[in-house]
Formats: sequence, C-alpha cells, structure tokens
Amino acid sequence: MTNSILQSVLNLFLKPECPICARPTDQEFCRYCEQQLLECQFTHGGMFPGEVPIFVWGRYGGVLKQAIAALKYDGNPQIAKMLGYCLAEGWLDTVKRVPQNLVVVPIPLHPAKLKQRGFNQAELLGRGFCEITGLSMKPHGLQRLKNTEALHGLSRPERYQNLQGALRVGKDPLPLAVLC
Ligand SMILES: [Zn+2]
Repeated sequence: MTNSILQSVLNLFLKPECPICARPTDQEFCRYCEQQLLECQFTHGGMFPGEVPIFVWGRYGGVLKQAIAALKYDGNPQIAKMLGYCLAEGWLDTVKRVPQNLVVVPIPLHPAKLKQRGFNQAELLGRGFCEITGLSMKPHGLQRLKNTEALHGLSRPERYQNLQGALRVGKDPLPLAVLC
C-alpha cells in the first residue's frame, strides 16, 4: 500500500462519522440519513388543537427514532441543536406568527440522570429552537421531583402513571410556555 493510499484510508477513519449509519461526514448526519430524517416530518403541519395545543414535528420512527436514541443514549449532544432547528422551522411554518410572552421550558432531568448523561437533551434542543425562533428559554421553569423510568417501551397509560407527580413549576415564573 502506497503512502497516499494509506493516508486516504486513515483520513476516512479519522473523519467524524454519522451517528446513525457510521458513514463519514462532517455534519451531524450523513446526507443519506439527513434526507431520511426530513422525510419523517409531518406534511400536514403537525399541530394538534385542544385545550393545550400540541405541535408534533414528525412521526416517531425510522431515522428520527434512531437520531433521538443516538442523542440520548450514545452521547451525541450535537444532534439536539439540529433537531431544535428542525422543530423551530416546522413550528414557525405552522403558527405563522410567534405569539408574544412565550417562553421555552425544557423538561428537566432528575439530577442523578443529568449526572449520568452529562447533558439535558431537552435543554439543548430548546436552545436550537430559541436560536431560530428568537424566543427566550427558562431552563428552571419546571423542577423534576422524581427520577422516572425511561418512557420508551411503556404504553400511554403507563407513561401517564410514570409522570404523575414527577414535575412541578420551578422558580422561574411561566406566563405561556412551549415545552420541549
Ligand atoms: Zn448516516
């Protein structure tokens, strides 16, 4: 093997890789996975009306599910900002006009979970969201009271039960909040 080929091979291995498929990339995801991710977005706007309207960016499955798992469980906090950008752009397309007095409140992690993971993915996602929307964030808008078990794999009633009494309003006052 000549030196130039060896160097090319080394470059290939030294480049950062896509956290989902391990292809080399200098972005959060390779182009293939980014395309797959964008295809998870709801095309009808993702706004579910009700007493508390809920905006959902996309379908929880495929590459979006893999990206969230890579973010939370494989130590890839850089993914959160990009997901925050996607969420913000989708939300802005839907609401058209950003309501006044709106603040962004990330769901807090229990201190033990925060120590274990090293970051709160919701707070990082919220920062990306705020960067695009211009909204401000209240990281202490909510307080986590108990260390709940992981929600994936639980049914909807089990999730509800699991979150009962887990959160309370924190020390930051909340006029109107977007939770992420
Ligand atoms: Zn990829």
